[in-house]
Formats: sequence, C-alpha cells, structure tokens
Amino acid sequence: MVQITQVRLTPVNTPRHGSITCGHVLVELHTDDEQLVGVGEMSDFQHLPRYHVDVADLEGTLNELLVGLDALAITEVEARLERNFPQAGYIYDKSRTIKCGVDVAMWDLAAKRLGVRVVDLLGGPVRDSVPIAYPVFRQQREDDVERNLAMVARRVAEGFDHFRVYVGRRLDLDEAFLRAARDRFGDAITLKSLDFSNLLDPRAACRFVDRVADVGFDLVESPAPHHDLRGLAYARDRLPVPVSEHVYSFRWALDLAAADAVDVFNVSVIAIGGITPARRVFAIAEAAGKSCLVGTTQELSIGTAAAAHVAMATPSVTLPSDPVGPLLYTRDVVREPVSYVGGRLRVPDGPGLGMVLDPERVAACAGPLTWAATDAAAVVDRAPAAGPAPDGAAPAGVAGR
Ligand code: MG
Ligand code: MG
Repeated sequence: MVQITQVRLTPVNTPRHGSITCGHVLVELHTDDEQLVGVGEMSDFQHLPRYHVDVADLEGTLNELLVGLDALAITEVEARLERNFPQAGYIYDKSRTIKCGVDVAMWDLAAKRLGVRVVDLLGGPVRDSVPIAYPVFRQQREDDVERNLAMVARRVAEGFDHFRVYVGRRLDLDEAFLRAARDRFGDAITLKSLDFSNLLDPRAACRFVDRVADVGFDLVESPAPHHDLRGLAYARDRLPVPVSEHVYSFRWALDLAAADAVDVFNVSVIAIGGITPARRVFAIAEAAGKSCLVGTTQELSIGTAAAAHVAMATPSVTLPSDPVGPLLYTRDVVREPVSYVGGRLRVPDGPGLGMVLDPERVAACAGPLTWAATDAAAVVDRAPAAGPAPDGAAPAGVAGR
C-alpha cells in the first residue's frame, strides 16, 4: 500500500497573450514512495466573484482530509471532497475548481501507481487525440473583427479547421465577423458553434441565429439566461441546429435531460469538479441519448491533459472540444506540454496524465494569487486589459468557457 503523506499547493500566475493574467493553483499529492507524486491543477481562478482563496488555509484543510489515504482511493477522496466542497450549481463555483485540482491529481496518482495512463484507467481510449474547435472571443470594438480574422488565418495555417465564435454583445460586429470569415475562408473552416454565453433571452438569441443562418454553423450554445430551462427548450424547438449548454451540477444535468432542453452537454472537468464527477454527467448524457463535448475554463497543460484523457476515453464525446489554454497562456509549468497537431489535442506518452512539473518553469510564475492585472470589467466584458491583443485572445470570464 502506498499512502498519501502530503498535499502541496503552489499558486502560479500566467498571462494570456495580450490579455489578463490568470491565477491557478498546482496540486501535488506526495506519497511514502518518493517516486510517486500525483499532479493536478486548480485552473483559472480569474472569474467573478472577485476574490481568491486562502491557499495556505486550503492546503491545511486538504492535508487534514487526505493524508494517510491510499494512492488508489479515488472514490474515498471524492466522497471527502464532496462533503467538504459541495456543489453550488454555478458556473464560477470556486469549490469546483478546488475539487477538480485534487481529483485530477488523484487520478494521476492512481494511474502512475498502476503504471498506466489515466485514459487506460478510464476504460481505454476510443480515440487517440481530441478534435478541437479554436475560440474566437467576442467582438467588442470594430477593430476586433479584422484582428480576429487575422487570428483565424494564423490558426488555419497551423492546422485548425473548426472554430467556435462567442457572440451576443455587439451583434452588429458579430454578424460582420461571421460574414467576413465565411467570405474569406469559405469551406476551409467549420464554425462549430455560436456561443451566446447566456447573455441574451432566447427570443433575441434565436432572432440573431436566423439573421446569420446562411453563414452556416453546427451548433448554438447557451442561447438563454443561466438556468433558464424553458428558454433552452424554446430555442431547441425553434432552431434548425442543435443546442448545447454547460453542465455544472448533477441536478442541472438531470434537469436538462428530464426537460429534453438541449441536444449537447458541454462537460468541462473543471466546472463539474473533476474527472470523477464528470464521468457521472457523461453517464446521465449517455442514458438520455445526448452527445457531449469537453469544455474548458482555459487550463494550463495539466488541466488540459486531464480534459484530453477524459475526451479520449468517453464515447459520447462526439463533437469537437474546447481546451486550448496552452496556446493562450504565455507560460506553462510542465516539462513537456500537451500539443496541437492538425487541429487535434494530443498528450505526451507516459503514466498518469503524462505530465511532469518543471521546477524552473513553476518558479518562474509562482507567486500569490492576485487580481492586480485584472479588473472586474475585464473579467465581465472581456475587454483587453491593456494594449493590443495580437492573438485575439480575450481575457477570462464567460468567454473562457
Ligand atoms: Mg476561464
Ligand atoms: Mg460556452
């Protein structure tokens, strides 16, 4: 038996290209086998409400909860986490972020203990890499349209052909971008989705979808306010394309299934609180006959690798997924990051998640969580924090989901 002897948390801050800086907390589960360390990541705390967790206090709590448990005790760890960090049923619930970091580290640890990859522990791969839809963050100013078109051109040159477009604030600019993108790139790009991020009432969202329907897109995401089950059902009935919505609690997953309100579940490991609870949501989706995609808050490589292993192992994940954090952030913390080849996400070989912390890279971005490089407006409206955003990378907030 190998036991957990210490939980170590390390806060880090990573800027996005031309945008805000996001705080994350790295999780290490140390054991009485020195060689055996599970790693996880509490990704992207830069969401409202605008406070950060007390990392030292949290580390004390996690040590109290986990030290002495077996390295394979995924179920017991999840039960203790769920008791102490209950679901708030809210997309920015910081308890979910905390729980996710530990749960992912636990899967990494258990897989390493057995000498297998996380995807193998999840039942084995149904695909060897994950098709990705690259995000086009919401147009906010007229010059965003041209900047985003240039970003798409660069990403097409890198092999991406699926894009997802955030819409719903400046509809005139959204329409200008969509038409220009179709004119310029033709069939070389597929628009996976228009993502309204719960900004509009369902009638207004549907009117906009009608207005740009001839541009061609596969999916409409979040075309109603948060938790508006009837609004989603209305949009799903009304629209000629499938509708997707984020799932961030078991209750919400059950409600969406019972009301038959969407076609597609957007399941992100971070928003639901880890791999273990994500599996429960995939089970609900499968039983309800729903397709899934794996969503994101925009993680560093550890969190992205967790999303990749889950997407590789889950048959119901039939749509392109969303995590591109390692392309958005200017820094990472591992020796060999995940990679994007031909528009598909790949993880390095190796046991567990295939991730090894690089102490120098960690040290380069380690520091207390801070809001110094982020104001509330930047998070809410995703306005570039300062200066140009050469990559079209908007700040976090709803846009990152
Ligand atoms: Mg985010
Ligand atoms: Mg979304």
